[in-house]
Amino acid sequence: SVVVGRRVRSRRKWRRVLALLEELEEGCDTPVGRLRQVVDAMAVEMHAGLASEGGSKLKMLLSFVDRLPNGSEKGTYYALDLGGTNFRVLRVQLGGQRSSILEKDVERQPIPQHLMTSTSENLFDFIASDLKEFVERERDSSETSLPRRRELGFTFSFPVKQTSVSSGILIKWTKGFHIEDVVGREVSECLEQAMARKGLNMRVAILVNDTVGTLALGHYLDADTVAAVIIGTGTNACYWERTDAIIKCQGLLTSSGGMVINMEWGNFWSSHLPRTMYDIELDAKSPNPNDQGFEKMIAGMYLGEIVRRVLQRMSQEADIFGTDPSKTPMIAAMHEDDSPELAEVARIFREVLEIPDVPLKVRKLVVKVCDVVTRRAGRLAAAGIVGILKKIGRDGSGGITGGRSRSDARMRRTVVAIEGGLYTSYTMFREYLHEALIEILGEDIAQHVILKVTEDGSGTGAALLAATYSSNSVDSVQ
Ligand code: BGC
Ligand code: MG
Repeated sequence: SVVVGRRVRSRRKWRRVLALLEELEEGCDTPVGRLRQVVDAMAVEMHAGLASEGGSKLKMLLSFVDRLPNGSEKGTYYALDLGGTNFRVLRVQLGGQRSSILEKDVERQPIPQHLMTSTSENLFDFIASDLKEFVERERDSSETSLPRRRELGFTFSFPVKQTSVSSGILIKWTKGFHIEDVVGREVSECLEQAMARKGLNMRVAILVNDTVGTLALGHYLDADTVAAVIIGTGTNACYWERTDAIIKCQGLLTSSGGMVINMEWGNFWSSHLPRTMYDIELDAKSPNPNDQGFEKMIAGMYLGEIVRRVLQRMSQEADIFGTDPSKTPMIAAMHEDDSPELAEVARIFREVLEIPDVPLKVRKLVVKVCDVVTRRAGRLAAAGIVGILKKIGRDGSGGITGGRSRSDARMRRTVVAIEGGLYTSYTMFREYLHEALIEILGEDIAQHVILKVTEDGSGTGAALLAATYSSNSVDSVQ
C-alpha cells in the first residue's frame, strides 16, 4: 500500500506537470489573428516612433546612412563588429564592381565575459589591441599599396543616437553588457582613443548598427533588398525609409530621398504579445527590466532561459529534473532530436546537465517545452517582419498604391536580409518563422518576399559602407 500510495501521488504530480504544460501552450499561443494584431501594432508603433522623439517604445533611430553601397566601391577597408557573444575584425578588398568582393579576411573571437561588465577602457583597449594585431599580420607585399591611414567601419550593435554617419552616443546597453561609463558617451571616440593608445593609425569612417551593416551587404548583393533583420543573441531590424516619412526630423534632406532607420525593435511592446508568467519573471530578474520586451520573447540570449524557468517550475511540482541550467544552443539540440528514443536529449541531460536516467516521457516533455517557446519566437519574428512590410507598402495590402487586391501579381520582389545564429542555425525556429510568414501574408504575396541569409553581413556591410562614405567627405545630412 505504500507503493500504491506513492504511485498515486506520482501520477497526481505528473498531472500537475501536464497542467503546467497546457497552461504554457495557451499562454504562448499565436493564432494568425493574434499575429495580425502584432503586425498592425508594429506598423502603428513605427509611425509613432517616426512622428516624434520618444513617441513610441520603438526608437526608430536615424542611421545617417542615406546611400547604400552600389558596387562602385573600391579599395581595402576594415570593419570591427562588436555586439553579441563574439566580436569580429575584417578586412575587405573591393573591386569596384557590384558583388566584387575580391578578398575577405575575418577573425572571430569570443568577448571575455568579464569585459562585458568592466570599464570602457578595458573593453575598448582589448578590441583595439586585437585589431592592431590583425592589421600587423597583413602580408608585407600588399602593405605598400595600402593607404597610410586605414578606414574602419565600426559595427556597434546597441541602441545608439547617431550624431553623424560616423559618430553617435550609446543610449543603453542590451544583451548582458553593462559598462556604465560608456552610456551617454560617443562610442567612435572611445574606440579611436583606444586605437591611439595602442598606436594604431585608423579612422572610424562610419559607425553602424549590425542591422544596418547587414542591409548594406544585402543591398550590394541584391538591389531589391529593403530591410534587414538580426535574430541572434539579440534581435533587431532596420529598413530603408523615405525622408518625408521621418516626421520627427522636419526638413531632413538627402540626395537619395531616403535613409536607413534602425528600429531597435527589440524594445517593441504591445498588449497583443502573448506573455506568460515565465516572461514576467525573466524580465524582473534581468539586468534591464521593462526593456527589450520583444527581444526577450525571441532572441537567443533568452529562449534557453525561458525554457529553464518552465522546467524549473515543473520540477517544483514533481521532482523530475533536479537542477536544469539549459541554454539556447542546448534547447536547439534537444528540440532537433528526431530519434524515437530522444537519445540526444538523454545525452544532454546525462553529460551536460549531469542528470542521469531521465525517463522518455520527461524527455518528450522537455522537447515539447522547447517547441512551444521556439514556435512562439519564430512566429512573433515573422509578425515583426510583416509589420515592416506593411509600413512600406510591401505586404500586398496596397497601402501605398491604394486599392489593389491582396493577390495582385504586380507585388514587387521584396528582399529582407537576415542574419543571426537563431535563424541560421536553428532549423525549427526558421521553419516556424517561414510558416507564419506565409500564414499572415498568404501564399500569393509571400512568394514575392525573400528572406536572404547574408553571411557576415554586419561586418562586411560595415566595410562596404566605410568605402561608400570614405570617397565622399560629406557625411552629415542635417
Ligand atoms: C540591440 C540592437 C542589435 C540587436 C541585434 C539588440 O539587443 O539593441 O542594437 O541590433 O540586439 O544584435
Ligand atoms: Mg552580430
